[in-house]
Amino acid sequence: MQRRHLLAAGGAALALPAAALDFAPPRAPAAMRVSPDRIIDIAVGIRPFRAQGPRIEAERRFGKTLVHHYGHGGSGWSLSWGSAQRALALVQAAAKPGERIAVIGCGAIDLTTARTAQQAGFKVRLYAKDRPPRVHSSAATGLWTPDSRIVASEQAGEAWAAGWEAMARASFKVHQGYLGLPSGPVEWHDGYVVSNEGFDTALPGHVGEPDYPDLHPRIADLRPLGKALEAGEHPFRAGQARRFTQLVFNIPAYQRLLLDDFARDCGELVQREFRQPRDFARLPERLVVNCTGDGARTLLGDTGMTPVRGQTARLIPQPEVDYALIYRGQNVVALPRRDGLLIAAMGEHDFGSDDLRPDRAQSEDAVRRLATLF
Ligand SMILES: Cc1cc2nc3c(=O)[nH]c(=O)nc-3n(C[C@H](O)[C@H](O)[C@H](O)COP(=O)(O)OP(=O)(O)OC[C@H]3O[C@@H](n4cnc5c(N)ncnc54)[C@H](O)[C@@H]3O)c2cc1C
Repeated sequence: MQRRHLLAAGGAALALPAAALDFAPPRAPAAMRVSPDRIIDIAVGIRPFRAQGPRIEAERRFGKTLVHHYGHGGSGWSLSWGSAQRALALVQAAAKPGERIAVIGCGAIDLTTARTAQQAGFKVRLYAKDRPPRVHSSAATGLWTPDSRIVASEQAGEAWAAGWEAMARASFKVHQGYLGLPSGPVEWHDGYVVSNEGFDTALPGHVGEPDYPDLHPRIADLRPLGKALEAGEHPFRAGQARRFTQLVFNIPAYQRLLLDDFARDCGELVQREFRQPRDFARLPERLVVNCTGDGARTLLGDTGMTPVRGQTARLIPQPEVDYALIYRGQNVVALPRRDGLLIAAMGEHDFGSDDLRPDRAQSEDAVRRLATLF
């Protein structure tokens, strides 16, 4: 379980043939300055894991069409655009062209759903309890990980996996359209997976985590190749290292851009909390897209949902660091984000937890483990 998860978090290269992975690094990677006194912020968010996979389906209720669109686990940013295209097909089947629709929420799934609907000619009003940066999506790490905590193994039959693959590919394509922009919402970075054990050694899982399917081989071609490095080919104090290339999201810039684009296309944003499904009946729009993420667990009483707590810490930005680093077996991921050197680490009891209190000791421990590599 854990092993699969860490592979998904950046070890695309691990599944690929070494012979095909030959390229030289442009220069020696700059050392990360990692110490607890450089932590400038800690964010906690909840991944909306749904054992059956994301819910993307329509129902008639309260005289309206409700399109449910939630439950993207640890893959929401990665799958967002492809998933939004699936939800759009349900919208188009029930709404008149150009009609104003409601989208509930202001996270990754909600904003990309709203933009996709606007681009298809719909007017959109967003209703949300909270907006960035006070949404769970704002706490995300920012790696393209479409296979992270997205479905439990026993649910992922061939039809489901094929649908997932189509969603991942469609999403990947749209993300590429956000490259090269001044604020850098989407960027490609080299990265290293380092380990003190063999890469084939299975790692212990976290408490309560289900078995996840190995979906990566279906999209291996979308990830540029990496390779195993010899001892002299990397500067890290670790027994083994592999180099890969990875799509990275600068989350604050991406969110801001989506909000700006949404407003520019005459989108409206209303602050409102829905306490029960019946509250949807009071909206003037005939079609409502419910993108409440983990909020759907209590709002709809969806018992298939499990909250998965996650914590990210930002260290003072280090623009000279342009690579990602995954310390396999030590449960640490570091990303060269523009808003800081981002450190993500999973807590032992985070699966099933919706505790939003920051745990500074957890981030400090992760920073210290990372520091041993330099
Ligand atoms: C620590 C962490 C790291 C992650 N890393 C990655 C990563 O690297 N790559 C990746 O692809 N994904 C990652 N994810 C997963 C990704 O962030 C989620 O899948 C995604 O945020 C889900 O987006 P969402 O819009 O469904 O939910 P949310 O961001 O939770 O948005 C839900 C919206 O609905 C609103 N809402 C909820 N309930 C109500 C209500 N009752 N009434 C009114 N409004 C309501 C909220 O206010 C909010 O605006 C990570 C998540 C976490 C927590």
